[in-house]
Amino acid sequence: MMCADFLELGKSINAFEKLKMEYLHIDIMDGSFVPNYTLGTDYVKKLKEVTNIPLDIHLMIERPEDKVEWFDFGEGDLVSFHWEATNHAWRTISRIKSRGAMAMLALNPATPLCVLEDVMIGLDAVLIMTVNPGFAGQSLIPQTIDKVRRLRESYPKLIIEVDGNVSFENARILRDAGADIFVAGSSSVFAKTGSLEENTLKLRECIE
Ligand code: ZN
Repeated sequence: MMCADFLELGKSINAFEKLKMEYLHIDIMDGSFVPNYTLGTDYVKKLKEVTNIPLDIHLMIERPEDKVEWFDFGEGDLVSFHWEATNHAWRTISRIKSRGAMAMLALNPATPLCVLEDVMIGLDAVLIMTVNPGFAGQSLIPQTIDKVRRLRESYPKLIIEVDGNVSFENARILRDAGADIFVAGSSSVFAKTGSLEENTLKLRECIE
């Protein structure tokens, strides 16, 4: 949603409802864990009021265990936080799950998969960052494709989300590597070359 036109937000939400978009991905950045600020608590609250599309809240914030309570979410929503941003992954997971949402752990491109070993049993999904978090418009780091592949091999039933430069072409490659949920931003759904409708249909064709 950080790629959506803020002055036309209602239009975008209507379009996504018609397209039966599975989730609205909301990037929350705190200017500390990542060198940028984006959407916040009021934005999430407002989205919850105006649409029934489930939210996919991506917390790129330090100490998410203390701040997760600030956000509006509930059953059917996905909430992810970064392994690199907390010493208390289990506490964060239980605070997310106690409100009925699904807990997802996000890993930066340089973070190895082995950190998942002792939390995997509590997770509903894993988010593999395919760029360094903080900004839209970056290029996919090629090594992350193999990372998705290795994660899929180790956990055949795990829900795997990919985030960062998920272009039409990269989406197909990441699907083949084993990804299930694709975060669509400026290089696909919000690409200037087509409308939201055209781009969404095109992306779906790529990952079918
Ligand atoms: Zn994100």
